[in-house]
Amino acid sequence: MTVYSGPVFEMAVNQFGVIADHLSIPVDERARLLMPKRAITISCPIHRDDGTTAVFEGYRVQHHLTLGPTKGGTRFAASVDLGEVAALAIWMSWKCALVGLPYGGAKGGIGVDPSTLSKHELEALSRRYMQEMIPFVGPHTDVMAPDMGTNEQVMAWFMDTYSMYQGRTVTEIVTGKPVTAGGTLGRREATGRGVAYLTRRVLNDLQIALNGATAVVQGFGNVGSIAALELHNMGVKVIAVSDHTGALHRAAGLDIPALVEYAALRGSLMGYSNELAIDPQEILMLACDVVVPAAMERVIDAKVAEKLRCRVVAEGANGPTTPEADLILEKRQDEIFLIPDILCNSGGVVVSYFEWVQDLQQLFWEEEEVMRREYQILDRAFDRMVARAKRDKIFNRTAAMAMGVERVRGAKDTRGLFP
Ligand code: NAD
Repeated sequence: MTVYSGPVFEMAVNQFGVIADHLSIPVDERARLLMPKRAITISCPIHRDDGTTAVFEGYRVQHHLTLGPTKGGTRFAASVDLGEVAALAIWMSWKCALVGLPYGGAKGGIGVDPSTLSKHELEALSRRYMQEMIPFVGPHTDVMAPDMGTNEQVMAWFMDTYSMYQGRTVTEIVTGKPVTAGGTLGRREATGRGVAYLTRRVLNDLQIALNGATAVVQGFGNVGSIAALELHNMGVKVIAVSDHTGALHRAAGLDIPALVEYAALRGSLMGYSNELAIDPQEILMLACDVVVPAAMERVIDAKVAEKLRCRVVAEGANGPTTPEADLILEKRQDEIFLIPDILCNSGGVVVSYFEWVQDLQQLFWEEEEVMRREYQILDRAFDRMVARAKRDKIFNRTAAMAMGVERVRGAKDTRGLFP
């Protein structure tokens, strides 16, 4: 038992155990690699619009500081707890190391359903969260970004609050900001674009023509909606999508641009069509070429993994597949190609890194430059993962995580243990 114990943390521990065994890491070295460096729990009081006071619990976990500052998103969701945040921080570490960024992983969040807050309450909560975090974060200590339930506006409030306390504008304290507040072109789209870009690579390798290929996307927020739109623009028929309000299915392909516009206006897919509605539990198991989970953790469990009828699983979300499901996907790897989360959704942190670099230098790039560099990093990491999986005859997730863990371990080894 640790303060982090819970189903999502156990999943990160189990996954690490598989990799540590694979890499023959001595048992006494493992906790140093796995256990988070710091965890901060705060209380965020705000005035509600009705005059009452409400207090929300917030967290930030910084996994390791060996390669540079920590980096990671901030999640506002009712389900957020310390264990989930710690697991997400650990995954961020392996992800940053896999794609070669000078960061350790971090994650933060507040246990709140943001849809229950007014805009004013959301701003108050966002600002209070950042204000409470000031002693623990900084452009060279820990840099925040958006995640589920947060967006560019929340990042702008974070940046403004931090800057007010410093007495100067510090854009490099968060990434995923609006371009008007020091953000980079291409950040909002970066994660979904990366998911679609890697999916296209795999479909090409499998000799599945884009035109006529079919996809299912779970989650229609930042990652899911952009991934769906990019796939649609590539000629792929997106036959089903879902969000927390329900799911839609059309065998001939959904009108994704119309759905993106609808969700942007209404905040969700609710009410778009009764005729196209389908049980959200079913969509991952539809016969199609690509399944993109882009919402929650642990949605592909052993039962779902057995029933998948796709050629590619492109993990847009963090941790969508349970370790039990991984065992099944590993057995089915000749039928189903897995693009593991730490590679598949890494476009987001790659472009966040570009945003941080541009803010530090106050020198801004064109969007084409951002995309070119993003795809270059994704291509390199993808090639290395595929080569490693082939060489060692291992599952893609094992290969990707092993490369991430190895880099962190190598840095810890050469730096030594202080004092
Ligand atoms: P978001 O808040 O923009 O969107 C989340 C979406 O998931 C919403 O459409 C929501 O309705 C839907 N959803 C929630 N519960 C659901 C359920 N039970 N079934 C179906 N849909 C459900 O969040 P996001 O930024 O798109 O993040 C989605 C996932 O991608 C998360 O796992 C996040 O950690 C991961 N991720 C995000 C980024 C990024 O840059 N935003 C980067 C890497 C990974």
